[in-house]
Amino acid sequence: MSRPVRVRFAPSPTGPLHIGGVRTALYNYLFARKHGGTMILRIEDTDQNRLVEGAENYIINSLKWVGVEIDEGQGVGGPHAPYKQSERKPMYAQYAYNLVEAGHAYYAFDTEEDLDNMRKRLEASGMQPAYDSVSRNSMTNSLTLPADEVKSRIDGGAHYVIRLKLPRKEEVRFHDIIRGWVVVNTAQMDDKVLLKSDGMPTYHLANVVDDYLMGISHVIRGEEWLPSAPLHVLLYRFLGWQDVMPEFAHLPLLLKPEGNGKLSKRDGDRLGFPVFPLEYTDPQTKEVSSGYRETGYFPDAVANMLALLGWHPSDNRELFTMEELIEAFSLEKVSKSGAKFDLNKALWFNHHYLMNKPVEDILPLVKPELATHGLESDDAYLGKVCVLLREKVNFAKEIISQGKYFFTEEYKFNEEVVSKKWNGNTNNYLTALAGVFESEENFDANNIENAFKNWCEINGVKTGELMQPLRVAVSGEPAGPPVFEMISLLGKESVLRRIQRATQSIQAQSV
Ligand code: GLU
Repeated sequence: MSRPVRVRFAPSPTGPLHIGGVRTALYNYLFARKHGGTMILRIEDTDQNRLVEGAENYIINSLKWVGVEIDEGQGVGGPHAPYKQSERKPMYAQYAYNLVEAGHAYYAFDTEEDLDNMRKRLEASGMQPAYDSVSRNSMTNSLTLPADEVKSRIDGGAHYVIRLKLPRKEEVRFHDIIRGWVVVNTAQMDDKVLLKSDGMPTYHLANVVDDYLMGISHVIRGEEWLPSAPLHVLLYRFLGWQDVMPEFAHLPLLLKPEGNGKLSKRDGDRLGFPVFPLEYTDPQTKEVSSGYRETGYFPDAVANMLALLGWHPSDNRELFTMEELIEAFSLEKVSKSGAKFDLNKALWFNHHYLMNKPVEDILPLVKPELATHGLESDDAYLGKVCVLLREKVNFAKEIISQGKYFFTEEYKFNEEVVSKKWNGNTNNYLTALAGVFESEENFDANNIENAFKNWCEINGVKTGELMQPLRVAVSGEPAGPPVFEMISLLGKESVLRRIQRATQSIQAQSV
């Protein structure tokens, strides 16, 4: 029986969404689109102590930026609204009580102090300090207390939690699309709290109940949730929902560029790349963390890069539009082992997208940068500068920082070239060349190059001797785009003014 594909991205709004979380959302999205399914965004905020102001909006904006469209969920609405767990609070408790009724869960009245003592006692005897199928027998709960006392405690308003009653020693088996069969013995698990004393469900209960109520067909999430999966499988069984249990796919970790371990914010700070999609200011400390967007990455380049961090298409192809990713994606081709983040690869992707974007898409990124430098340009000229310079850079804004001379004639002349290449003839040669350029009707690059070479030949000057002084005269820089293309774009009048300023000021310096 095949059921409609319904997947969810279910972040907890405890801070800015990590780039690994964006990848999880992206894989869910690709899978949903590929199978004509539904992509849901659910906010899992049952742990109210860890809520961070602004985090929910940050998540929504990040997904939007990277191109992950939400069909149903927080911020969009849908048939299972609300999609935020704190707003669904009244729905969960009944399931916990049903489990108690069926003998799969129990009330636990232990105080913090009781729990602390239990942990210490177990640790002292070299055992796992867990509330489990063994230790629960010496605690204060509805399995150890007489039924009438349980009733009178509850009627008297005593604080309690509801814990799952795990079978003593039983193998829990489930199939993971990426990892294959996973087998865990309940002896290794503990009796997790399902319902807290304030009536709020824990992550485990809310997650399973919501996946059931929302008809989720596939749970695609990070590897850090793999240890929770056996518990969830048991919950499905105990709640009688086994037939509609979603399939699981636990994604490999995103690893730091070198060594092992999860990619962390600190790696990003240390190695100079963002680990967050958008710039983030911590509301408490005011610390600012850089974002892919603000660094100058294109969202489609980021989506392309992230898709390949853990998923391998059948051929070795690397460049994919979102539509192509949807077409090619499959969970079976997601690897089990962690994927190393590679900064150079990230830059390579962005460069590729920069080279292939229509100029209209680049202009909005370079214009603010131009203004920051106090420079101005019309769009047509700016667009041509972008096309000429983009080959040399990874980010659109670098076009401006590296090519300021395209927008001003007030630049410094590179001192090294001046001291090494400017001999007694240089200014005269440049002035003569300006005369040649002035008489050229056709100012395109080929024509200017020919005129330059002809002049050099007729006058017995080596082109190599004059090429760099010419570049420095018109741009101030020792390197840059092909010099005759640059001259052509600058235009005759500007080039003549530039050469004149160079011959006047450089002569004045060197005499
Ligand atoms: N709320 C969990 C998180 O923050 C979701 C885990 C899951 O997808 O089940 O990642």
